[in-house]
Amino acid sequence: MTLETILKEGLDLQRRWKRHWPEYSRDETLEVPEERMREVLASLVERLEENYPFWHPDYAGQMIKPPHEVALLAYWLTQRINPNNHALDGGPATGRIEKEVVSVLAEFFGFAEHLGHLTSSGTIANLEALWVARQLDPERAIAFSRDAHYTHGRMCELLGVEVVVIEVDGAGRMDLDDLRAKLGTGRIGTVVLTAGTTGIGAIDPIDEVVAMRRDFGFRIHVDGAYGGFFRLLASEDGLLEKGDAAALRAISECDSVVVDPHKHGLQPYGCGSVIFRDPAVGRFYRHDSPYTYFTSRELHLGEISLECSRPGAAAAALWATLQCFPLRPETGLGPILRKTRQAAQRWAALIDEASAVELLRPPSLDILAFYPTPVGKSAAEISRLTSEIFEDLMTEEAKPVYLAKFNAHRRLFTGDRPIIWDCPVATIFRSVLMKPEHFEQVPSLHGRLIAAIARRAPEGVR
Ligand SMILES: *Cc1c(COP(=O)(O)O)cnc(C)c1O
Repeated sequence: MTLETILKEGLDLQRRWKRHWPEYSRDETLEVPEERMREVLASLVERLEENYPFWHPDYAGQMIKPPHEVALLAYWLTQRINPNNHALDGGPATGRIEKEVVSVLAEFFGFAEHLGHLTSSGTIANLEALWVARQLDPERAIAFSRDAHYTHGRMCELLGVEVVVIEVDGAGRMDLDDLRAKLGTGRIGTVVLTAGTTGIGAIDPIDEVVAMRRDFGFRIHVDGAYGGFFRLLASEDGLLEKGDAAALRAISECDSVVVDPHKHGLQPYGCGSVIFRDPAVGRFYRHDSPYTYFTSRELHLGEISLECSRPGAAAAALWATLQCFPLRPETGLGPILRKTRQAAQRWAALIDEASAVELLRPPSLDILAFYPTPVGKSAAEISRLTSEIFEDLMTEEAKPVYLAKFNAHRRLFTGDRPIIWDCPVATIFRSVLMKPEHFEQVPSLHGRLIAAIARRAPEGVR
């Protein structure tokens, strides 16, 4: 059955429901000639051709891929009604659906009780978690690692909260000695841990920080915007590094967690989520807006969320997707993430054997960081060569390859071959292998990478 047939059936069912209400004629002010609409959409489609091919396995750059069709169809059918999940009377059906999917997420993270909701992004979801942290402990600082997402600093500025930056180790994880020393000052009220840094996918040692709460009292928020769903693979032998798996399992003992269904949850943009382990934090949101909430005595989604209007369609799309792709290791989302993880392992193995290119470090998830190894190996030369090859690959006429670049600080370079540090950071390659099709594509991507390096730096390729 094609996408068009499934959509048509959905539309027919929806029309049947709409016929419960009397016929009316649409106002003439809303009319657009059919020909005009066609023209406009055709010119839009043409303008969209400026995009990179995010759906294709030769696109292995940023954290971007199109949503699954089931999410798109569910979104579109719901959006035709356009429910607003700021309150149950704005979206009675999708409000209930949102509570259902958030319970599924809470259970997935191992929270026995919870309070949570979807958000328009990971940034807003994290803002909300930091805001609650500040309400609970207004006098003390919020700490996160140097490699945490850049928006944490920005949001703390917005909240007027003091920030303590913690160093990272050679693997890009929060450095526990530095954390312990800074906790010792008593200034830190909340520690933000990242489960999958945006740069290289590093996972902070969540389990070990949880254990440190015995010595120091503090709150823990986990930013799993990218990597949260990899908890699905945490009980499997050998797929993730032991320490990473233990860290992901320990999310259940933290106070709040953020995961972005619009990253690894097959959703269109506009779908983040925040979940708190203690439902009592709902007290911070309570307000009375007499004209918005009038049909229900329940705690409305709008009463436990910083944002007001939000698309009910986002909840519907996530719900439909989770019906087809449940959060389970052996079926649904599990096999997808297993493939993306294996794609990174497969490419890492090929890079390990090649002399022209070196891994920054073995990948934790499905994000790979690597760099060409020119003779002399100064940070400036690596950066220059990376940028040239990056352009070459992308502008290749027949079979372009799309990678991303990443400014890696010195601390992350732990390879055997020394680098001459003539500038503070080195620009290297970063590749997010977040599509299961990447697994099959890896040998071909690698071949084209090596060929491109050979053209720019023939002496480095044996
Ligand atoms: C992407 C990301 C964010 C920001 O989420 P948005 O949905 O882009 O706002 C925050 N933290 C991490 C670790 C991320 O990867």
